[in-house]
Amino acid sequence: MLLADLTSPQVRKLDRNLPVIIPIAAHEQHGAHLPLFTDSYLLGEVVRRTEVARSTEVLIAPLQWLGNSHHHRDFPGTLSAQPRLYLDLVQGLVNNFLEDGFSRILVLNGHGGNDIPGQQSMFEIRQQQRRRDDLLLLFSSYWKLRPTEVDPARGFRQTEMGHACEWETSMMLQLGPQLVGDYQQAADVDPQGSFLPAYRAWVTQDRSPVGHIGFPALASPEKGEYLFTLFATGVAALVDRIRCWNGHPWRE
Ligand SMILES: [Zn+2]
Repeated sequence: MLLADLTSPQVRKLDRNLPVIIPIAAHEQHGAHLPLFTDSYLLGEVVRRTEVARSTEVLIAPLQWLGNSHHHRDFPGTLSAQPRLYLDLVQGLVNNFLEDGFSRILVLNGHGGNDIPGQQSMFEIRQQQRRRDDLLLLFSSYWKLRPTEVDPARGFRQTEMGHACEWETSMMLQLGPQLVGDYQQAADVDPQGSFLPAYRAWVTQDRSPVGHIGFPALASPEKGEYLFTLFATGVAALVDRIRCWNGHPWRE
């Protein structure tokens, strides 16, 4: 169910073991062919499908569209919270639910730049609440919850999420094709070129002068529908595990 559609007395009556999803996304440049709100549109659709599949079994907060996107600030239109402010913002949202008595929280992420501050937010809350043994504080990006790898028989070149890439462009073609520009002319930008095993601090210009990372020209609405189904299935499965959590670690 959607928190935004409930009344406060209705929230008061809810089971406190209900899984809570806090969706966090972004408003940032997505190359020359996708809109700034792409991450929020895509996560919103994954969450919508999860709500359809598990409506009475999960409480879903309104999507937080302002993300940590400073690495994209060389591209106009990108809106970003300062990283430390963002960390506090996510913590504040989670703490609102803890104060209301909920204890099983999934922060569901739709933007790579939120990954580190989002996880740090949850880690710090756990330290502050260290005496409690009933808390399940989880963080994941939606694409990491896919139950299987993408099917190569469907023509995918990418095996991981990029940026304004084959995956994101496909999902936008499925969700809002009128918002997608000339993706077929977008050049290939190899997502590799990492500095592994080290982590290199980066701005988008280091990896892509054009703003996208991956292979948007290979996108199709059929691939988009396939990806949405894959990701929403993964989120729904995680909701089930959270709901059934018995206080012990999960086994694979
Ligand atoms: Zn994106």
